[in-house]
Amino acid sequence: MSKYKRKNKKPGHREGEVRAKKHLGQHFLTDENVAEKIAKTLSFSGYNNVLEIGPGMGVLTKFLLKQDAEVHVIEIDTESVTYLQENYAELQERIHQQDFLKYNLQEVFKEEAFAVIGNFPYNISTQIVFKVLEMKEQIPEFSGMFQKEVAQRICEKQGSKTYGILSVLVQAFYYAEYFFTVPPSVFNPPPKVDSGVLRLTRKEDFSIACDEKLFFRIVKTAFQQRRKTLRNSLKTFNLPDNIREDTIFGRRPEQLGFQEFINLTLKIQPYAI
Ligand code: SAH
Repeated sequence: MSKYKRKNKKPGHREGEVRAKKHLGQHFLTDENVAEKIAKTLSFSGYNNVLEIGPGMGVLTKFLLKQDAEVHVIEIDTESVTYLQENYAELQERIHQQDFLKYNLQEVFKEEAFAVIGNFPYNISTQIVFKVLEMKEQIPEFSGMFQKEVAQRICEKQGSKTYGILSVLVQAFYYAEYFFTVPPSVFNPPPKVDSGVLRLTRKEDFSIACDEKLFFRIVKTAFQQRRKTLRNSLKTFNLPDNIREDTIFGRRPEQLGFQEFINLTLKIQPYAI
């Protein structure tokens, strides 16, 4: 008898299933219709590989395996990995027991393209998005479930209160679509918040016209003091006065779309070290 089948005294746990561990952000989806809907948010075209982050007991994996794609899963939890090995034998060596944030995915995919999907662990959702941005050359499509607020923020346009760093950085490279909201009642254990499903589709031309590292730095610095004008929040860049007189510096970060942040970066670029 394997470990997950033995002891379990927690309420809401069923015999033979993985015990939900809070520190791993484990909230298992119990509604197969929702799982199927999430799996179908990917287009499964233009790439052969799909990587699911945090499959847990495979509720989403089951529907991904029905698609014409090579499915890989990456799961940090030993107990879930054992469960997957026993219940999804067809995955074979495509189950990677690794921390998504730390693992070098080129060991799996080399230079090939792969789509990313998941009902993500909410405690590391922002870091997941940043890692996807780092690997965007290989990731044409990304979809899945976050806590609703995070999913909405990513898709938000300028001018809104929740528009922020993630919105700008993601939208510079991807089209972001918010799909649907999922209530806590379809999880075990239920999270405290609503969840939201989104999809990111990489733009055909996803190279930006300015220095990318500087663009990231400017966006992050500007939103650290989101109520201030750019003239104030970007003081640390020590720009010459004639540059800082440009009207764009009189605006606040939440008023700028990603293209305006690119234009801003181009203005700052000659003076940045
Ligand atoms: N997809 C499953 C489980 C969602 S819970 C379902 O919908 O039911 C989130 C899952 O992510 C858990 O299985 C958890 O173990 C896993 N996880 C948490 N941190 C991770 C990390 N850093 N790398 C890979 N998987 C992780």
